[in-house]
Amino acid sequence: MSDTLVDFDEVLTRYEPVIGLETHVELGTESKMFCGCSTTFGAEPNTQTCPVCLGLPGSLPVANAVAIESTIRIGLALGCRIASWSRFARKNYFYPDIPKGFQTSQYDEPLCTAGHLDVEVDGETYRVEIERVHLEEDTGKNLHVGGATGRIHGADYSLIDYNRAGIPLVEIVTRPIPGAGAKAPEVARAYVTELREILLALGVSEVRMEQGNLRSDVNTSLAPIGSLEWGTRTETKNVNSLRSVERAVRYEMRRQAAVLDAGGRVLQETRHFHEDTGSTSEGRSKEEATDYRYFPEPDLVPIAPDEEWIEKLRAALPELPAARRARLREEWGVSPTEMAWLVNAGAVELVGDTVAAGASPADARKWWLGELARRANDAGVELAELAVTPAQVAELVGLVTAGTINDQLARQALDGVLAGEGDPAAVVESRGLAVMGESDELVSAVEAAIEGNPDVAEKVRGGKVQAIGALVGAVMKTTRGKADAATVKRMLEERLISS
Ligand SMILES: [Zn+2]
Repeated sequence: MSDTLVDFDEVLTRYEPVIGLETHVELGTESKMFCGCSTTFGAEPNTQTCPVCLGLPGSLPVANAVAIESTIRIGLALGCRIASWSRFARKNYFYPDIPKGFQTSQYDEPLCTAGHLDVEVDGETYRVEIERVHLEEDTGKNLHVGGATGRIHGADYSLIDYNRAGIPLVEIVTRPIPGAGAKAPEVARAYVTELREILLALGVSEVRMEQGNLRSDVNTSLAPIGSLEWGTRTETKNVNSLRSVERAVRYEMRRQAAVLDAGGRVLQETRHFHEDTGSTSEGRSKEEATDYRYFPEPDLVPIAPDEEWIEKLRAALPELPAARRARLREEWGVSPTEMAWLVNAGAVELVGDTVAAGASPADARKWWLGELARRANDAGVELAELAVTPAQVAELVGLVTAGTINDQLARQALDGVLAGEGDPAAVVESRGLAVMGESDELVSAVEAAIEGNPDVAEKVRGGKVQAIGALVGAVMKTTRGKADAATVKRMLEERLISS
């Protein structure tokens, strides 16, 4: 069944979108939230479990102090108010991946509230208000076997892996974000991107989206332009790539506009996102609010962070990405637009490390956004995944600056580095890439070019100096690019003009 969709630009002539995001982040703690089990990804199913995270009767939880500290640090980085008193609560619902029959979460007493995050799209800043940041535990993982889609519908049976059950999970909830208009899909993406950068800077999670360390529920609603009330929202669950966040909002806007145009009503429901088609499909209805019968968790003591601890954590926060970008922009002398390119290419850290290894900011940028970006693109990988380190790029730049190689030879040296032949200097040595000096070999190449192109040589002698380019080209060709073009030009001039 395919949805009727309205053209994206047309949606905006009649409707105003409001978006909102609930993002779950698995913290990178060594042990789980309420027990000592390991959190290492990829272990044999059900080997990282104990009576606590399996919810066996009589087992007692103990809260992970590092997880609490990490949550407070996230709250501080997002400008939140940190609660002086916070409690865990039981969120009661039965589901096979929740062995206890309830999830230990936070309800009306979260750790952090009322923050914000500014994101930039096309030079415009959008303030995203953060409603709350709270701490809870992850669920186990269901594996539905035998069906075509991997979903429970149509499966023969299901397996459950409890290794993930009880891993600390931070939920970051925004307030509704109105006013983004046509940029709503990009603002959603920019928000998750910036949030991910902050989490990386804090070192609280590996935020590997492909491993599900960070997943967003994306809320979208439409209201007729000028309407005082917001429309009914849908919640697209567990979107786990930056690109998909943007696509999910775009798709929902187009789908909901078609429903409203036809006089229909948008149903309040969760929806699934499909990577292959970029579409969403209906999930669970949320027309009636589920009563989770929250009540304070009696087995855990309340968390009461004191002022002194909070201020200590605040003072120890690392430089945050936005401040870091502003500082680097200044240091490298780049425009906001160029900085945005670097951010989008995932090149800020790489350029920074290359500069730290001795390259000039301009050279570092040129290589990472030029040749290396092209290679990453050809190979279909991220820049950081290329088999070349910032130190090696700096070495390559150094060899060009010193005149040992030119740009063309540097690209050949890079081939060698990427093929695992060693550092640039070693590759230049082993592949014989160094620029030729004024050797006998070069002298004979220059003389051969003059002899082989008598008509061109005659033109140069006769005063048509620009014709010398053809002779330089001929020498570069016979030396397979290893000669220095300026040297070759000078040698030709000595023979044709000065004589
Ligand atoms: Zn356990």
